[in-house]
Amino acid sequence: MVHQPHPERTASVPRRRRGHPSPAPADALRFGGRYEDLRDDRLAHTLVREDAAVEREELSPHERISCHVHRRWAHECISSPAHVIAVTGHRWCRSCEAEASVAVDEVSGAVSVVCTRCRTIPDTAATRQILRTCRASLAVALDGRRACAAQQVRAA
Ligand SMILES: [Zn+2]
Ligand SMILES: [Zn+2]
Repeated sequence: MVHQPHPERTASVPRRRRGHPSPAPADALRFGGRYEDLRDDRLAHTLVREDAAVEREELSPHERISCHVHRRWAHECISSPAHVIAVTGHRWCRSCEAEASVAVDEVSGAVSVVCTRCRTIPDTAATRQILRTCRASLAVALDGRRACAAQQVRAA
């Protein structure tokens, strides 16, 4: 079934681009200060929305596509030592008790996780979570870059 939005109702609602809706004003007030100096609105908005959702226990910190600690997209800082969490198995190979590294291809959008010792992919929920969140953050970041480039073309 094709959903037909009511024309009068949709006309009054500002059109938001998918992927980075503005945070609720109360959330922007409470969490936005930390990200005021970020030049990427899409990233800042995502950080605020995810901070608020984590605070409300609606979102697991591991399911975020933006990183509170590094103020970056998940795929941009996943290689930081702060993202190795042996307890949960994030970037961790349990059989080797060794770190796993994450490779992110910003062009193709491919993300892979490989143990630095045995060179296999740790087959865990944590690995699948990293793949999911990094692919999602990469997709949103690339989408933003394309939108930005399109704007520059229009402005020129
Ligand atoms: Zn980070
Ligand atoms: Zn291993």
